[in-house]
Amino acid sequence: MKIARFSTGEDPRYGILDDDELVVLSGDPMFSGFDTTGERIPVTGVRLLAPVIPRSKVVAVGRNYREHAAELGNEVPAEPLIFLKPNTSVIGPGDAIVLPKQSERVEYEGELAVIIGSIAKNVSRADADSVIFGYTIANDVTARDLQKTDGQWTRAKGFDTFCPLGPIIETEFTVAGGTVETLVNGEVKQSGRFDDMVFPVDEIIEYISSVFTLLPGDVILTGTPSGIGPIIDGDSVEVRVPGLGTLRNPVRA
Ligand code: ZN
Repeated sequence: MKIARFSTGEDPRYGILDDDELVVLSGDPMFSGFDTTGERIPVTGVRLLAPVIPRSKVVAVGRNYREHAAELGNEVPAEPLIFLKPNTSVIGPGDAIVLPKQSERVEYEGELAVIIGSIAKNVSRADADSVIFGYTIANDVTARDLQKTDGQWTRAKGFDTFCPLGPIIETEFTVAGGTVETLVNGEVKQSGRFDDMVFPVDEIIEYISSVFTLLPGDVILTGTPSGIGPIIDGDSVEVRVPGLGTLRNPVRA
């Protein structure tokens, strides 16, 4: 099932994507199920929003693909390397990534995002699937210069607009065999396979939930493959995952 969060000019609503139409839901399906209002709206007539606004946190995994760790001169970590992005960094499909004046090098990172659906603490790998609501696409936008000079990543990863999510949540997505591509102005820059993750999704959930309690609506970014690079004012950046669609965002100074 493909779940969209959308606006037709009023408050955000949720819908199930059915071909070119949205079957409108009576509430947030994560909390109030899949009851429908009976209304159907053409998807071309709505503005898609970030499919989830994380209640508490976005947890991201760094250096989770061998070739990406190597391109920045790093080893693959022995355990998942995790960091937080504030929920205020989240934007939706089509929203502009705004380049902060504090940075001279902002980069894209196309990633698979996991949406948590239930309270999760000390979840084993074997049970990880049971706490997943679905999957979407993320761009873990990063001020690469500040990441180096700050020594830790809060500012470099945390600016407003630095976490595009969308376009929809797929509740039945299969990670194995999946791929992610990032394009800037139509040119392919990253092309990765989820099977190449150093730590797969179930292991990431086991690790993170041993540290934090994950809440419904929390989002996990699973790391980016090699091929990262800069984005500048006027660019259009797209992250594509077959089965999840295309997350497209313009870049503005
Ligand atoms: Zn990342």
